Amino acid sequence: MNDINEIHLCDWPDCMEEGCYPAPKNPKNLRDRFHFCLEHVRAYNKEWDGLKGFSENDLHSMRTGATWDRPTWKIGLNSPSKTAAETIAGNFRDPYKLFDEDTAKRQAAEQAEAKIPAEIKDACALLNLPFPIEPEKAKQQYRKMVKANHPDLNQSNPEKAERQLKEINLAFQKIKAFLNKKS
Ligand SMILES: [Zn+2]
Repeated sequence: MNDINEIHLCDWPDCMEEGCYPAPKNPKNLRDRFHFCLEHVRAYNKEWDGLKGFSENDLHSMRTGATWDRPTWKIGLNSPSKTAAETIAGNFRDPYKLFDEDTAKRQAAEQAEAKIPAEIKDACALLNLPFPIEPEKAKQQYRKMVKANHPDLNQSNPEKAERQLKEINLAFQKIKAFLNKKS
């Protein structure tokens, strides 16, 4: 990875694969792109015709699960009859309910943390990633760390940056493998 702009992760929510396949975000702006893994670029392309009426903001909200008020839009992930609302409901956690269940949730998180292998804990510490591990947060931290430690931006000590970059990559791979095993 010599070019900082070549580092892409799949933009699909919660997917931690490499995003090797660019896809335009909007039919009117073909230059601005998502990057997806093979599985998700296929899913995205399949939906392309159905997406033409949506703005980039709509798309982004839907992809990130920030909105859930488009129950008629079919996302067609695994099952073609699955609506966006159903799909997004899977990702969405009611903040008020969360508040009520705060204690239970914290205990669950502590229990989950206790079961996490030491090397995964170390990897999370390196990426400055809190528990429980959220894939989107992991991607975000990984991108941030890669940028901050890119040798091109650390000319005073590129060897050290290179070394750190390797550790960051390794940590991310471990976290990814851990999350994949769990789900
Ligand atoms: Zn993907």
